[in-house]
Amino acid sequence: PRPIERLTAALEETHAARKKLKVKDAVVMWFKMDLRTTDNRALWEASEKAREAGVPLICIYVVSPQDFEAHLTAPVRVDFTMRTLRILKEDLAALDIPLYVETVEKRKEIPDRIVEFMNEWGASHLFANMEYEVDELRREAKMVKMFADHGLAMEVFHDTCVVSPGALTTGSGKQYAVYTPWYRSWVAHVHANPELLDTFDPPSKNPPDARDKVAALFDRDIPDVPENKRLSEEDAKRFHALWPAGEHEAVSRLDRFCEEKIGQYNERRNFPAQAATSSISAHLAAGTLSARTAIRTARDKNKTKKLDAGNEGIKTWISEVAWRDFYKHVLVNWPYICMNKPFKPEYSNIEWSYNASHFTAWCEGRTGFPMVDAAMRQIRSIGYMHNRCRMVVASFLAKDLLIDWRMGERFFMEHLIDGDFASNNGGWGFSASVGVDPQPYFRIFNPLLQSEKFDPSGDYIRKWIPELTNVTGKAIHDPYGRGAAAQAKKAGYPEPIVDHKESRNRALSAYKVGIGRD
Ligand code: FAD
Repeated sequence: PRPIERLTAALEETHAARKKLKVKDAVVMWFKMDLRTTDNRALWEASEKAREAGVPLICIYVVSPQDFEAHLTAPVRVDFTMRTLRILKEDLAALDIPLYVETVEKRKEIPDRIVEFMNEWGASHLFANMEYEVDELRREAKMVKMFADHGLAMEVFHDTCVVSPGALTTGSGKQYAVYTPWYRSWVAHVHANPELLDTFDPPSKNPPDARDKVAALFDRDIPDVPENKRLSEEDAKRFHALWPAGEHEAVSRLDRFCEEKIGQYNERRNFPAQAATSSISAHLAAGTLSARTAIRTARDKNKTKKLDAGNEGIKTWISEVAWRDFYKHVLVNWPYICMNKPFKPEYSNIEWSYNASHFTAWCEGRTGFPMVDAAMRQIRSIGYMHNRCRMVVASFLAKDLLIDWRMGERFFMEHLIDGDFASNNGGWGFSASVGVDPQPYFRIFNPLLQSEKFDPSGDYIRKWIPELTNVTGKAIHDPYGRGAAAQAKKAGYPEPIVDHKESRNRALSAYKVGIGRD
């Protein structure tokens, strides 16, 4: 059975016992990638349980350096999480609810530590939202059973997607493997079940005597960022200014975007020099914002309640947020993508070129292709890259350099503030043509044309590549080919490491041979 089926079975198996179990002295909410008080399903359910029983709600978050390592979580993302926890702790404290944050070295210690914590505080019920990665689903399935064995109850909820993975099937009962029909079905499902976009209220305030009962939990500070993921002082300063953390910031970013930019999203979203997208991905990844709130807020700006009608910008934006749901649906239904395997197994035999100096040039933004280099310097500098550029650099790595896309996928996770396994794997699979509903393998981005089309003035390139600041006109897209060679050389900007025409042909034949079409 797939991991989601194991978890569902564990929940079904223990259902009767969980229902019967009386609430003891406290109810516990276990925070994971859902670091917000508003519109958080498990938190709301936990709060209701505690309120009905008249006991305190207490919250826990467990930091595991090994878990960060295993998920390749970027230091900037870990730092964002730790800053968010401080804000969340304050927000919850205002409701007399403590958030206790504890560090355990190994991730396998997490379940036992949570049971210990529950026993320390006489808690009987644990609430959590589901995470869809394979290890997490398996862990949760085991935990649900282990809790039942200990006379405890663990409740796990779907929360991170608007439509839970598995809820939509094709007419013949299969899981969708193509976005467009899935999206049509997603829209129809939300229209038929509009409550899916309703918000969950923040938790109720703990009862008046609760603060004393659990006072010790309020005293503990949020730990520092684990050493293996700590930022340099200089990076921390830059990132903190660029990426304020917490759910209030998330909501104000979303509101600003819906107020000022969403109307033109359709026309402007592909131009990286224009700040025309929402930049809420870090918040959706950390769970400081829910996808429900994102979509509901956008919909409420439209003249219609329909998600696929009305203003083009709003419609398109909603369909982009839906991609996030789609890739989680893919992860849940084809969990082998978590195991380094391409969605399309027939793409497993492509003979990649393991050219270390090409890979280093790509990582460092020194390929001699300005659009690619600007994008790679953007991700290194701010932990974020514009979507168009993500596609351009991914295509360049997998096709022009014929380097295994998984090396790029990994590099992205190690650097992105919004690193999310499902979306990142989906994006790489799309660009490298090995994923679900991908770009056909013979469609190979020409980095020069992409640059001319989507950064026509060259402003994006100039912003990230100081060596090219003074290059004017069309030469900005290709300084060595368009008359700015001396200038580029003098400034230390590298010559192109490959010839696009040649590398295109090489990629076409390697793909054809790999998938047996030759
Ligand atoms: P907006 O354009 O404002 O979109 C709003 C939200 O919709 C985004 O925040 C995101 O949650 C969702 N979204 C938009 N486009 C996509 C998409 N193609 N796939 C999935 N969700 C989408 N997104 C991540 O959140 N984490 C990743 O690790 C990630 N890796 C990617 C890797 C590659 C190779 C590619 C091509 C795309 C990747 N994306 C990833 C998707 C997309 O690039 C980002 O979500 C987007 O650039 C974030 O900026 P924004 O919030 O301003 O987006």
